[in-house]
Amino acid sequence: MREKLEEIKKNALDVLQKATDIDALEEARIKFLGKKGELTAVLKGMGQLSKEERPQIGALANEIRGVIENHIDTKKAEISEKLEEIKLKSEVIDVTMPGKAQKTGKLHPLTKVMNNIKDTFIGMGFEIAEGPEVELDYYNFEALNIPPNHPARDTQDTFYINENTVLRTQTSPIQVRVMEKKKPPIRIIAPGRVYRSDAVDATHSPVFHQIEGLVVDKGVTMADLKGTLEMFIHRLYGENTKVRFRPHHFPFTEPSAEVDVSCFACGGKGCSVCKGEGWIEVLGCGMVHPKVLANCGIDPEVYSGFAFGIGLERIAMGKYDINDLRLFFENDLRFLDQF
Ligand SMILES: [Zn+2]
Repeated sequence: MREKLEEIKKNALDVLQKATDIDALEEARIKFLGKKGELTAVLKGMGQLSKEERPQIGALANEIRGVIENHIDTKKAEISEKLEEIKLKSEVIDVTMPGKAQKTGKLHPLTKVMNNIKDTFIGMGFEIAEGPEVELDYYNFEALNIPPNHPARDTQDTFYINENTVLRTQTSPIQVRVMEKKKPPIRIIAPGRVYRSDAVDATHSPVFHQIEGLVVDKGVTMADLKGTLEMFIHRLYGENTKVRFRPHHFPFTEPSAEVDVSCFACGGKGCSVCKGEGWIEVLGCGMVHPKVLANCGIDPEVYSGFAFGIGLERIAMGKYDINDLRLFFENDLRFLDQF
């Protein structure tokens, strides 16, 4: 029986020596140590042994079981290590390979021009003000010196929510809201979306953007207005751009003017962009009407102010030489990628 056990030990160690994978180890374990394994079979025959021999053989059998188990564990660790090594080798990353560029988004051209304009005015000490897009008729018209039945209402085709509420047709109501809350000195720009019931074509859209500017203080004059706007236009279009003020009429400013710049395409000689005029209209402005100041609780005998309104789309079309307003709102990547 002793010989039989030694033989099992020798066979088991031979088999384990040759094993190259985890499955082979498991097979060997079952073959030698399993419930129906060789070692168990030998132990079942222990009943035939003498009293003296039984504990000795038992001890030997246990020792051999231990040796085989140890060998299995050691071999298992060896094989796992080898597998891990092979896996690491196959997963090596070649850091010298060229990378794949990630496509990043870009700012919309309207956002770029808006940011540019905001930065220019912030640099001149202006603050940004905001107001609601769904606006009371009072703020959109009445407080701005446009009472019911005023002809100016006909020129702004308005979306009415109900009798007293509109989608704002201009950013000017923000002026009124600011003046009601804040006492002069006031120096703000108010950028935002505005709405008019216009049919869509190359130069019209029912939604577009304005930037309203307002300055109110003691002793503000038309000269301040001209200086501020000239500085803004030179920052936007370059120092050599000429600026022209033409008399105009707005209900909420008096006197009022429209501002032209020398054509940025031809420099003033006349071309298709300026329709041969040499000038391009960029904004409307004027001295705040005393009635508007009074409507907001500011004494027009003490304070004066100027206001201006810039059409963002018109500025962006000129700056980027875009001939169709609809391109801004179609979100065609072939168009947007160019900026
Ligand atoms: Zn021109």
